[in-house]
Amino acid sequence: MKELSKIVQNLPESGIRKLQDAAREVPDCIRLETGEPNFITPKYICDAAKKAMDDGFTKYTPVPGIKTLREVVAEDFSKRLGIDIKISEVVITGGAVMALNAALGSIGNPGDEILIPDPAWPVYEMLTLGHDMIPVPYVMPADNGFEPRREDIESRITDKTKAIMVNTPSNPTGAVFSEETVKMIMELAEKYDLYVISDEIYDFLVYEGAHYSLKSLDKDGRVILVSGASKKYAMTGWRIGYAIASEEIVTLMNQMMVMMMGNATAVAQKAAEASITGPQDFVEESVAIYKARRDAAVEIFREEGVGCYYPHGSFYIMVDIACCDMDSEEFALKLLAEDKVAVAPGGTFGKSASQMIRISCGTDMEDLKEGVRRLCRFIKKYTK
Ligand code: PLP
Repeated sequence: MKELSKIVQNLPESGIRKLQDAAREVPDCIRLETGEPNFITPKYICDAAKKAMDDGFTKYTPVPGIKTLREVVAEDFSKRLGIDIKISEVVITGGAVMALNAALGSIGNPGDEILIPDPAWPVYEMLTLGHDMIPVPYVMPADNGFEPRREDIESRITDKTKAIMVNTPSNPTGAVFSEETVKMIMELAEKYDLYVISDEIYDFLVYEGAHYSLKSLDKDGRVILVSGASKKYAMTGWRIGYAIASEEIVTLMNQMMVMMMGNATAVAQKAAEASITGPQDFVEESVAIYKARRDAAVEIFREEGVGCYYPHGSFYIMVDIACCDMDSEEFALKLLAEDKVAVAPGGTFGKSASQMIRISCGTDMEDLKEGVRRLCRFIKKYTK
């Protein structure tokens, strides 16, 4: 038979998925490797989906999503960002990952260079390669709180650079970019005429300081803001994402949606609409819980004298394993085998994190604390 897709066959394997697969084979292990809230979707959201089903709302919807959901997304972001977003600038997608895919497909051509953070969620690199574009990592230095400096980005720009991907608050580092960093990125984007794909899916999860949206500084429609319901409303399985972009880009993203999904799932769109219009107590309560978990985990690392990077947002913590003579994947697999704790190997997020591992505070408090204690014991045992 003829050769299958070279592009897809050559995509890097996600180190997170590898650990997830390995963890499934280890009964009773503590799962700190996955970035998923451990809460179930609030009842008022599920009720809206049930009602939609009972009302027979089970057909195709318009490609960019139902009008009422696009309206509430436009209103919600307009209010929070202090800008005027029109409904024609909103596309509803199958999760934020589909919004990122549609965004890249809409702005780039094969061979274009896309700047991606290092470390970053590994799917950015896959998506870029999947579109036959070239991922060019820019470092997010740990000694700068994982925020890029101007030269970290500017030195990577060439005449082939089409766009920069940005993620604040960050997965995996928990960094929340300062206003200064956000302004610097926008200045570079304008100076070199780059599009900005800004993944702000963790915008609600900031413990200290404030979230600054790149979209709020967008003067000429170069920023595509990507977000979604997965993390904020514990709706990972519903697959609802959204993108906010210029009408011109939205038109192309709609074409991408036609090819990928047609439209996001009808009842899930109704659920997402309810998530935004309904009471927001769940969001407040879950943020307080994530913060308590972060504080408890950081305290254990401090008591044990194990180095971790204090995160100001998202629900991840990066832990330093440079003292152990192992690469991050070897470390993660050995920790799982010996102490039954699954963590994400830092190397999967980029070269600069190859001496780190990531844990997620999406896990319940007792498991998290026990997992962190075992992790500290393991690090101390294998310290060179
Ligand atoms: N963006 C970031 C930074 C993420 O960490 C994730 C999921 O882990 C996503 C996007 C994907 O979100 P969704 O479930 O909406 O596709």
